[in-house]
Amino acid sequence: MTTENRKPKTENRCITVIGGGLAGSEAAWQAARRGVRVRLFEMKPLKFSPAHQSPFLGELVCSNSLRAEGRESAVGLLKEEMRRLNSLIMAAALATRVPAGKALAVDRGEFAAHITRALEAEPLVEIIREEVAAPDPEATTIIATGPLTSEPLAEALGKLSGQQNLHFYDAIAPIVAAESLDMQKIFRASRYGAGDDYLNCPFSEAEYAAFYEAMMHAEQAPLKPFEEPRYFEGCLPVEIMAARGFRTLLFGPMKPVGLTDPKTGRQPFAVVQLRCENREGTLYNLVGFQTKLKYGEQERVFRLIPGLEQAEFVRLGSIHRNTFIHSPGILSAYLNFLQYPRIFLAGQISGVEGYVESAAMGMLAGINAARQAVSRSLITPPRETALGALIAHLTNTATKDFQPMNVNFGLFPPLEGRIPKKLRGAAYAERALEALAEWIDRELAE
Ligand SMILES: Cc1cc2nc3c(=O)[nH]c(=O)nc-3n(C[C@H](O)[C@H](O)[C@H](O)COP(=O)(O)OP(=O)(O)OC[C@H]3O[C@@H](n4cnc5c(N)ncnc54)[C@H](O)[C@@H]3O)c2cc1C
Repeated sequence: MTTENRKPKTENRCITVIGGGLAGSEAAWQAARRGVRVRLFEMKPLKFSPAHQSPFLGELVCSNSLRAEGRESAVGLLKEEMRRLNSLIMAAALATRVPAGKALAVDRGEFAAHITRALEAEPLVEIIREEVAAPDPEATTIIATGPLTSEPLAEALGKLSGQQNLHFYDAIAPIVAAESLDMQKIFRASRYGAGDDYLNCPFSEAEYAAFYEAMMHAEQAPLKPFEEPRYFEGCLPVEIMAARGFRTLLFGPMKPVGLTDPKTGRQPFAVVQLRCENREGTLYNLVGFQTKLKYGEQERVFRLIPGLEQAEFVRLGSIHRNTFIHSPGILSAYLNFLQYPRIFLAGQISGVEGYVESAAMGMLAGINAARQAVSRSLITPPRETALGALIAHLTNTATKDFQPMNVNFGLFPPLEGRIPKKLRGAAYAERALEALAEWIDRELAE
């Protein structure tokens, strides 16, 4: 299998990449490998975000783990797909790995140094240490400035996307896999008989009291120094609301009005509503349950919700400082703005979550920006791949409350037939890698 060849340097066109983090570094690498000149702007070391400390490109700001490695996990599969597309971030991770069981963890200093050296040695990449305040809408540009994008550029992004579509905090409610729910306890209904779009988990008074007690004693995740809690009243963490009084949740996200449990013929004491998250109906979010509880505590407390005792949590809740745009309806499946096709977004700012996912979006933006620079058609990976599943999340206009997301199998089209749970990861991976190979042959081979 051959991937796109490098073009002779004389034919080079140029793109701009803003931000030399995981996404920007990968994007610059991918574009340069396709023979396109890259001007990569990085504001460090002249200016550091509150979380960045090192002058290197590709800095990991927190954990040194790139999570599970096995292909039977969604993030392991994503890494394998990236490796097959000659990812710089994956090459750096494999070259600098440290022992971490089934996870791929790295020596963070070596990892960032590897990425920096590779880009410095790449003749088509010019690294410019400068803060960029606004992109030039006429030049092919990738914005990859991350969750802590500097203020002037965030302001410019707000103008491009519309202020209402630019967020500075995420407010993430947990998501559960539909197949893990106990439908003997849960009933379908919308309030006041207006359809049956929601799944409702009904509580008796005793069940609510036990749930409330557990939530009040659960530990919260500590805030980073730059994360002053500036919560909007409409999107308070559920535990903050609960702390206002025993009955507060009954008038907020757990209100039972307009709902009748068909098993008792009565209105339950309290209800947690689950809303469908994707077209396939494989994922449901807990409506209004954005939370700062620690991950382990969330699983313990939320499994006290009737019907969620065995729930598989594909995403846990969180509230972070996180600059990102509401990408559905704004970004295309090629990662450029529908309204400003020369401007691409990549990384966490595009609405994915996590190191690997951010780098993956850098990879796709880099490939497409390079293609645009040489007047080739833009491309998007097949829906069955982990890369395609992330793009589907970013372009899913059916979602009611778009929030950044890690890759997970709930974002993939369902598998055909009934496959035992422990074999499903491998089945998703086999289907994805086959689709990826065909896509590479069809779209990327010269
Ligand atoms: C505090 C914190 C901890 C996190 N911990 C984890 C974790 O443990 N695991 C995980 O998987 N994910 C984590 N994330 C989420 C996310 O995966 C990382 O933030 C990831 O680095 C995002 O990659 P990125 O390329 O989008 O942005 P970044 O890696 O942040 O890169 C953006 C780059 O752009 C530069 N920049 C910003 N503005 C400008 C400008 N105007 N001009 C020029 N350069 C600019 C920055 O200096 C930076 O180098 C964390 C996020 C935060 C904020």
